[in-house]
Amino acid sequence: MNISWVTTAWSVLAGLALALGLIHLLAWMQDRRAGANGWFSLVAFSLSVIAILELTLMRTDSMARYGEILRWSHVPLFLLVLGMVGFVQTYLGTGTLALGVAAVALRLISLGLNFAVPPNLNYAEILSLRQLSFFGESVWAVAEAVPTLRVKVAELSSLLLLIFVVDASVRLWRRGGARARRRALAIGGSLTFFILFAALLGLLIHSRTIEAPYIMSLPFLGIMLAMGYELSRDMIGASRLLLDVRNAEEEAARHRDELTRISRAITLSEISSAFAHEINQPLTAILANAQAAERLLDEPQRHAAELRAIVADIVADEQRAAEVIRRIGAVLKRHEIVREEIGVPELLAEARRMVRRDFDRRGVWVELEVAPGLPRLFGDRVQIQQVLLNLLINAADASEGLEPERRGITLRAEATANRTLICVEDAGRGLPADAERMFEPFFTTKSGGHGLGLAISRTIARAHGGDLRAASGARQGAVFSLEIPVAT
Ligand code: ADP
Repeated sequence: MNISWVTTAWSVLAGLALALGLIHLLAWMQDRRAGANGWFSLVAFSLSVIAILELTLMRTDSMARYGEILRWSHVPLFLLVLGMVGFVQTYLGTGTLALGVAAVALRLISLGLNFAVPPNLNYAEILSLRQLSFFGESVWAVAEAVPTLRVKVAELSSLLLLIFVVDASVRLWRRGGARARRRALAIGGSLTFFILFAALLGLLIHSRTIEAPYIMSLPFLGIMLAMGYELSRDMIGASRLLLDVRNAEEEAARHRDELTRISRAITLSEISSAFAHEINQPLTAILANAQAAERLLDEPQRHAAELRAIVADIVADEQRAAEVIRRIGAVLKRHEIVREEIGVPELLAEARRMVRRDFDRRGVWVELEVAPGLPRLFGDRVQIQQVLLNLLINAADASEGLEPERRGITLRAEATANRTLICVEDAGRGLPADAERMFEPFFTTKSGGHGLGLAISRTIARAHGGDLRAASGARQGAVFSLEIPVAT
C-alpha cells in the first residue's frame, strides 16, 4: 500500500497554520492593540496557502500550469515577508524600520517583476518536468529550466529581512532584562536560523543541486512555530495574570465585607463595654453616696446640710447615668435594621468562618447541620450575624475545660411554620438555675464579661419579629434557639 506521507504532512501543515492563524486573528480582533497577533495570523495564513500551492505543484505535470502556480505562490510569499517584518517590529519593538520597509519594498518589486514577465520570477522558461520519488510518494519537480536574473531582487529582499531580524534581536538583547533577552534569543535566533534555512533551500532547489519539489513550507513552519510559541507563552501568562487579578479582587472584596461586619460587631461589643464602663462610674458614686448617707442618717438633724449635699450628688449622678443610657440608646438606634433576604446556608457558613481562627486556637469546632431547601430569611444580615457570633462565642466559653472530643458545637438550622430556627448547641456546663436571668442586662458569670450579649441578642431577635430562647441541650450543655421569620 502506498501511504501518501507527503500529501498527509502538507495537508496537516496547511490545516495547522490555518487554525493558528484563526486563533490569533480572533485574539487580535478582540484587542487591536495585540498587533503581534495580527501579524502572526498573516504569517500563518500565508503559510497555509503556500503549503497548499506546494502540494498542488507536486501533482502538476503540465509545464504551463507549473509555471503559473509558481507565479501565484509569490503572493503569499510577499505576505509572509510582510507579516514577518510586522511581527518583529511590533513584538520585539527594537527593529530599524527602514530595513524592514526596504525588505518589504524589494519583495513588492519582485512581485511586480514576477507578474510582469511570464512565466514567473524564478524561471525564464521551464524546459521539462520530471517525476521523482519523494518520501515514498511520486511527485513532480522542475527538471530543466532557464533561471532569471530578476530573482536576485527577491534574494536581496531576503538578505535585508535577515539583517532586519538580526539587528532587532541584537538591539533587544543589548537593552537587557531577562525577559527581553529570552525573547531576543527565542525569536531572533529561530527566525535567523529558519530564514537562512529557507534561503539555502531555495538556492539549492532553484539551482537543482538537490532534486526535490518545492518544500519551502518546512522552514516557514519553523518560523511560524517559533513566533507562535512565544505568543502563546505571552497569552497564557496574560490569562494567568488576569485570573490572579480577578482572584485577588474577589479576595479583597470578601475581606472588605468581612471587615465591615467584624468592625460593626466590634462596634456593638465596644458600645457594650463603653456602656458598662460609663454607667459604672455614676452607679458607684451613687452607691458610695448612699452608703455615706445611711451612716449620717443616725443623726439626721446634725448632718442635714451634708445630707442635702449628698442627695444633690446622687441626683446629679443619676442624671449622668440617665444621660449615658440616652446616649447609648441613640448610638444603638443609628444601627437601623436593614432588611434583606438572607440565604441560611451562607449565613451559617459565614458565621463559622468568622470564629474559626479563634476556635481553632481553643480546640473548639463547629458542626453545621442545615436542613435542605430552607427558605431565605428576611432581616438585617449584620445584626443576625452578631447574634450568631455571640451565641457561638458563649458556647465556646461554656465548653472551656471540657475534654477535647466534647468541645464540638452544633450550629443547626431547620424550618418551622414560616420561621426558621437556628440552634447553637454545646456540651458545656449547662444553664444556670434561673435561665431567664441570662437575658437580663449585666448578668454575667464571667470574670471579664459584661452580661450584655444575650440581652442585646434577644432585643435583635424580637426587633425582627422573632425570638431567642435557651433550653438544656441533649448533651448536658445548653441550646440557644434563634427564631427568625422567613422572607415572603
Ligand atoms: P457575657 O458573655 O458577657 O457574660 P452574655 O449576655 O452573652 O454576656 O451571657 C450572660 C451569661 O449567660 C454568661 O455569663 C453565662 O453565665 C450564661 N451563658 C450564656 N451562654 C451560655 C451557654 N452556652 N452555656 C452556659 N451558660 C451560658
